[in-house]
Amino acid sequence: MEALRRGEVHYIANRGIRDLREALAKDVASETGRSFDPDRELIVTTGASEALSMAALALLERGQEVVIPEPAWNHYAAAVELAGGSPVPLALLQSDGWRIDPDRLSTVITPRTRMIVLNSPSNPTGAVQTPEVLKAVADIALANNIYVFADEIYRHFVYRGEHLSIARYLGESDLLLYVNSASKSFGMSGWRVGWVAAAARVSDALNRVHQYLTVCGVPFAQRGLLASLTDTRLPAYLRDMRAEFHARAEVWTRALASVGGVELVNPAGAFYLFPRIRFRGLADHALCAHMLEEHGLAMVPGSVFGAGCSGHVRISYGLSMQVQRAAATRLAEVLRAG
Ligand code: PLP
Repeated sequence: MEALRRGEVHYIANRGIRDLREALAKDVASETGRSFDPDRELIVTTGASEALSMAALALLERGQEVVIPEPAWNHYAAAVELAGGSPVPLALLQSDGWRIDPDRLSTVITPRTRMIVLNSPSNPTGAVQTPEVLKAVADIALANNIYVFADEIYRHFVYRGEHLSIARYLGESDLLLYVNSASKSFGMSGWRVGWVAAAARVSDALNRVHQYLTVCGVPFAQRGLLASLTDTRLPAYLRDMRAEFHARAEVWTRALASVGGVELVNPAGAFYLFPRIRFRGLADHALCAHMLEEHGLAMVPGSVFGAGCSGHVRISYGLSMQVQRAAATRLAEVLRAG
């Protein structure tokens, strides 16, 4: 509000407000252990979404491949296709706890592979990749000269242990694109503020695309993020938020634990569950339509997140505890009644 009153409503530098870039450089350094130059290696974007389009448009030649571990947020494949690239799904297995198997990852790498997407914690599974997996994926990327698009937008939603960035295993490599956003951590999805940190050579290429996509971000929204990042109440806010989301996850896992026809890998992060549900022989779209129309329960069909996921649905627990308790109880009752 102060920024608006001051009249901060005009174009700004392509890379975003300098003070914000400086604060973000500190934040990124604390996550990655690496320092990025706020003038040459950081760009404030219109959400992580714009960073994804920038990466695809700046780095992919027609037909080059991007490996996407699935189930995955469906924008990755769409952005790659819009840029003329080819998404290559790597099917993860529920029986592996949605863990990336580095040996299977190696088998889908070809001379055309240009990038791999790493989203941990994950939308839609809530899975958090282990340090061993992160190191193995980083080693494969380094050995094959493949960019890593590290989408760590759910970094503050980790319920067991601390968040670990794959950046920790990529050293000073040019191959890292570290992406984050205010959307989830600060509940600011409508403000459209994200950021991408990368080596100067890569950041320059991203910025050349960014200037033609959006020119720059929105200055007063960027001031809002800067105020959040520098607020002394931030650590307490993040701690309370994490505890609240963890409690919501437990409401769901307890409610679904003993329901026949449900298989669930308990989420370790983000705010989603991705159960496999068998109910009256319905496939995912029909199941979601039934639950919405007959029982007022909104879920997303699993096949949105990958071709092999039609037995699954995604449940988000982004709304209040009260809503989660009511929804979890109702879904369990409906499934039990059969
Ligand atoms: N990345 C993942 C994994 C997401 O789940 C989402 C939104 O749901 C985004 C990125 C979009 O982020 P933003 O709002 O910063 O564009």
